[in-house]
Amino acid sequence: MPSSACSYCDNAAIYTRDYEGASFCSRCFRHAIEERVRRTITTSQMLNYDDHVAVAVSGGKDSLTLLNLLAKLEKHFPKSRLTAISVDEGIRGYRDEALSLAKNACDKLDVEWHVVSYQELFGITIDEIARRPRDQTPCAYCGVFRRKAINRAAHMVGATKIATAHNLDDEAQTVLLNMMHGDPLRIVRSSPILRDPRARFLTRIKPLCEIPEKEIVLYAYLTGLEFQSVACPHGGEALRNDIRAFLNQMEQKHPGSKFTISRSAERLRELLATTVPVSPLNECEKCGDPTPHRICEACSMVQAIAA
Ligand code: SF4
Ligand code: ZN
Ligand code: ZN
Repeated sequence: MPSSACSYCDNAAIYTRDYEGASFCSRCFRHAIEERVRRTITTSQMLNYDDHVAVAVSGGKDSLTLLNLLAKLEKHFPKSRLTAISVDEGIRGYRDEALSLAKNACDKLDVEWHVVSYQELFGITIDEIARRPRDQTPCAYCGVFRRKAINRAAHMVGATKIATAHNLDDEAQTVLLNMMHGDPLRIVRSSPILRDPRARFLTRIKPLCEIPEKEIVLYAYLTGLEFQSVACPHGGEALRNDIRAFLNQMEQKHPGSKFTISRSAERLRELLATTVPVSPLNECEKCGDPTPHRICEACSMVQAIAA
């Protein structure tokens, strides 16, 4: 429960960070979130003053919060530029609403908006994949296709960086998920700032990686952001959902657990970075995109579905 007074001013508190022992009124809370994101960007050297950032905007609370925060920051850097990229996976009754929320937010902030669809890139939608016999869940296809779609769109608009709205919960879940999949080396590739040493892929940044999910919900609500709250009908990954529930339980019993897991991953990355080999890249035989294989993962998936 929040204590009665804000720890930073005389206003009444509306939220307490159990992991920090500090309480916040609405104004100080919003300020604290903006400051933390600014600090994450600065200390991790995520952005240059003249970057053109392609921000992935799904229409959910995380991406609209990120878009708003980056638009605010961009005002201080006249040589920087922001372009929003939305991905239409082809999920009836779900993505349509999210796309219109993304468009409204971009109109309000005067940010250029681009949409790229799985139908136009891969010739198939996630709804169609879900109806076909397949080896993996729709989310497995969706994740691979999304990465490629955002990369393509970011290149198309001439961006220099890609920003995604992964929050602290996503980060901690991904660390445990990689462990559960027996693939701890993947932790290196899920860094909050991912630079390709071969300079073939755009640098990806996650400015919200130190903000817990529930604080993003509160920030979005206090800022009056209109975001999509219904869940995707394809349900998400079962293992990730279990890990999410486990981590929330741990956080309640041991405040700060999500930060601890995320920081442990940071230390692991420092150690692993020198030992994980950087694979050389080829051009995908189907689409020409860079890939360590003969055919990139997205094209292999499209081929397997069509077979
Ligand atoms: Fe795609 Fe799965 Fe997310 Fe739905 S829940 S948008 S299918 S990744
Ligand atoms: Zn206050
Ligand atoms: Zn390909």
